Amino acid sequence: MSFRFAFRPYQRRLRQPLRTARDAQITVRLGIWLRLETDTEVRWGEIAPWPSFGSETLAEAIAFCEAFPPDPEWEDLATAPDSLPACQFGFGCLRESNATDFLPTSAVLLPAGAAALTAIATASPATTYKWKIGLDLESELDLLPQLDRLLPSAAKLRLDANGGLTKAQADRLLQVLTAINERRSGRIEWLEQPLDPSQVDDLLQLVQDWPLVAIALDESVSQLSSLQFWQAQGWPGLYVLKPAIAGWPQTVRQFCQVHHLPVVVSSMFESPIGWRAVAAIAAQLGRADQAQGLGTTAWFTDDWESKTAAALWQHP
Ligand SMILES: [Mg+2]
Repeated sequence: MSFRFAFRPYQRRLRQPLRTARDAQITVRLGIWLRLETDTEVRWGEIAPWPSFGSETLAEAIAFCEAFPPDPEWEDLATAPDSLPACQFGFGCLRESNATDFLPTSAVLLPAGAAALTAIATASPATTYKWKIGLDLESELDLLPQLDRLLPSAAKLRLDANGGLTKAQADRLLQVLTAINERRSGRIEWLEQPLDPSQVDDLLQLVQDWPLVAIALDESVSQLSSLQFWQAQGWPGLYVLKPAIAGWPQTVRQFCQVHHLPVVVSSMFESPIGWRAVAAIAAQLGRADQAQGLGTTAWFTDDWESKTAAALWQHP
C-alpha cells in the first residue's frame, strides 16, 4: 500500500470572542487539516492545538507537518512524540477510516458574564447548558439566580471555571450550588475544574466537602499522562476528555474503556473535520444519559458544518 500525505493550515472566525479564565480573548480559530490518500480511500485528520490546555503551539505542529514525508510509510503515522498531543490526535485519525455519521446530543455553550442571559433567550431550548465562570465571581454569583430562573425548568446547568477560582471562592460557590441542588435536584449537573490543576489535594478536598454537586476535571486531565495520574489517585468525580489535545485517540479510548472512567467528551472549537472525529469518540465513550460537550459548532458564522471534508479542503 502506498500513501500520499498533505496538510493545510486553516483559520476560522468566531461569531463572538471567546473568553475563559485561561484565555484572554480568542477571535480566530487556527488549525491544520491533514489529508492522507491510500490506494482505496482518502482519510482526513485535524490538528487543533490549544496551548493554554497543555498542547503544543500551532507553530510546533506546523513544523512537525513540514518535516513529515509526503509519501509516508504506515509506521510514519505513529511517530508524533508525546510532546505533540494535538499532532498525535490528527495523525491518529489518519490511522483509522473516518467515522462521521453519529451526532450525539450536546450541551449549549453560553458566553461568559451577563451575555449568557440574552443567549439563553435566543438559543433554541436544550436539555443542558454550560456557562463559563471564574472571570468575576462576585458578578457571576449575582447572575446565577437570574440564569436559574431563565433556564427551562428541567434543564441542567454546568459551570466551568477553567481553573480560575481560589479554594475559598470555590467553597463559596459550591455552597450556593449546593443550595440550588437542594431546592431542585440535579439542576447543577457539575462544576468543572474549579481550581488550577496544580491544586491536587484541594480538588480532592472539594469532592469530600460538597457531596451534592459533582465536580469534573478538565484541564487537570488534558493529556493521557495526566488522565493516568488522576485515575491512579482514584478521582471520584467526572473526567472531561478533549480528544483533540489528549494524544493518540486509540490509546486514550482504550485507557478510558479499561478503567470504566466516567467520561464526558468535549470539543475544542475544531473545524468539522476534527469535530466529527471527536463526536465519533463521544459516541464510543460518553454516557448515553449525558449530553456531551460538543456545542462549539454554533460559535462559527460560516457554513462549514454542512460541508464535506473534501469541500473544506478546497476552501480558499
Ligand atoms: Mg472545561
